[in-house]
Amino acid sequence: MERSLEELEKIVRDQICRVCSDRKVDGSCGLEEPGTCALFSLFPQVARAIQTTHSDDICDYVRAIREHVCTICQQQAADGTCETRDSVACALDAYLLLIVDAIEEATGKTFERPISVQPLFPLSVN
Ligand code: SF4
Ligand code: SF4
Repeated sequence: MERSLEELEKIVRDQICRVCSDRKVDGSCGLEEPGTCALFSLFPQVARAIQTTHSDDICDYVRAIREHVCTICQQQAADGTCETRDSVACALDAYLLLIVDAIEEATGKTFERPISVQPLFPLSVN
């Protein structure tokens, strides 16, 4: 199913902000600077990385995000480390499985995956 980027972002916002630990009780984002949420500041790259990955292994999606999103994210250090990720403060990293499911479901692509407890962290790929 074809979805515009705007539609996908809205679906992901509805599903992820709702469960995000940084959300305030009034429903707004509780980050000091909401624009720094990598999930939405880099949403086009996030959506592309997920939509071009075809796997039933979540580690493949983690790799795609690291490669296509983290590499252009201002919060990643030159050596590839990320304090935000290490402190479990990146919603993209913490809720990746839910984000992948939301995007794939919205576009009609689904894989059999074991049910997992969310949020999934830390997600690490060697
Ligand atoms: S940190 Fe990101 S995912 Fe969490 S509430 Fe704010 S905008 Fe939504
Ligand atoms: S894990 Fe770090 S580098 Fe990657 S998107 Fe999140 S904040 Fe940016």
